[in-house]
Amino acid sequence: MNIHEYQAKRLLHSYGAPIAGGVAIYSAEQAEEWAKKMPGPLYVVKSQIHAGGRGKGKFKELGEEAAGGVRLARSVEEVVQHVKDMLGNTLVTKQTGPEGKQVNRLYIEDGADIERELYLSILIDRTVGRPAFVVSTEGGMDIEAVAEETPEKIFTLPIDPLKGMTDADSRKINRALKLTKEAAKDGLELFPILYKAFTEKDMSLLEVNPLIVMKDGRLRVLDAKVSFDGNALFRHEDIMALRDLSEEDDKEIEASKHDLAYVALDGNIGCMVNGAGLAMATMDIIKQYGEEPANFLDVGGGATTEKVTAAFKIITADPKVKGILVNIFGGIMKCDVIAEGVVQAVKDVGLKVPLVVRLEGTNVEKGKQIINDSDVDVIAADDLDDAAQKIVKAIKG
Ligand code: ADP
Ligand code: MG
Repeated sequence: MNIHEYQAKRLLHSYGAPIAGGVAIYSAEQAEEWAKKMPGPLYVVKSQIHAGGRGKGKFKELGEEAAGGVRLARSVEEVVQHVKDMLGNTLVTKQTGPEGKQVNRLYIEDGADIERELYLSILIDRTVGRPAFVVSTEGGMDIEAVAEETPEKIFTLPIDPLKGMTDADSRKINRALKLTKEAAKDGLELFPILYKAFTEKDMSLLEVNPLIVMKDGRLRVLDAKVSFDGNALFRHEDIMALRDLSEEDDKEIEASKHDLAYVALDGNIGCMVNGAGLAMATMDIIKQYGEEPANFLDVGGGATTEKVTAAFKIITADPKVKGILVNIFGGIMKCDVIAEGVVQAVKDVGLKVPLVVRLEGTNVEKGKQIINDSDVDVIAADDLDDAAQKIVKAIKG
């Protein structure tokens, strides 16, 4: 789960991280009211969407010439002007995809006197199975280019989760970021704070880009992007409360209500599979036969008929879906339960696209019987390869 920049900053601030003063607003009136209370003379108006690259992003409605999704302002009037310009419009950045994201809230922040822009993130480094700091002196809006062209400028420091973060670790980061004097002192305080927030709140990513050194030599968190491990959210009610459903895919929200592991993708073959591994294999083989999956969907081991029906409805509600592939290997999950779910769902919502079903394993004969006895128009498949070929052929034909 992701949260907005201003929420991430508040959270980090509650751990003691230095941030600028600021306020989230939803209207031009609110913006004016609050900006008047800010010290000035420099203000920053920042689009709050769950995607980075906002500074270099473009609003669909405003054209290529207009300024991006993060703007400086030098008066309250200018703040209000930017707010009117941006609010409700669609921001397209490198991370939003071409459809962009509608900007429904803005964050107005005190402007900072920036000396240097640094990059800092904490993530789980799976190659060593530990949280790791990834830092660079070349922070700011071009970090992707740095990673590609000059990867030697990026420094990675895994942290021993049993020992936790040590002063020696912080000093290494200070050196990598070339921090001295006040900034280095701030670093010794800030890095353990960020590490604590990362581990306590079960974050999967904490990215501060840029972390800045200000003209007065102090450090400040200027941008913050935080993602949380969805499997740990049940123990963080405070984080759950920050969820912004308007940022999430409707189909994914519906799927999460039914406890389905579902990810919307761009292709046109809807997949209903049990088991993450089989789901991945199914997506791979669809690609191998030249088409793209419309989703990842694992109905899980102990799915009920209701759950299967819900899954089927989510798939068919997606207008991109031109065909459906049901691929079930019955182990704990029984083929007859899946069959009943599919038949029930087709009764409820109808079937407008070709449906290929491959069933194998526990109660397979019962499952096939249920489908044969129904009047659902199914193309039966013998194995995974056969199923993939048949669905690809069906949507082309
Ligand atoms: P994004 O990463 O989505 O483009 P950022 O929050 O990193 O958004 O902002 C982009 C750039 O805008 C920063 O690299 C920085 O140069 C500038 N900026 C952002 N916030 C402030 C601020 N409070 N004061 C001064 N400059 C800022
Ligand atoms: Mg940034």
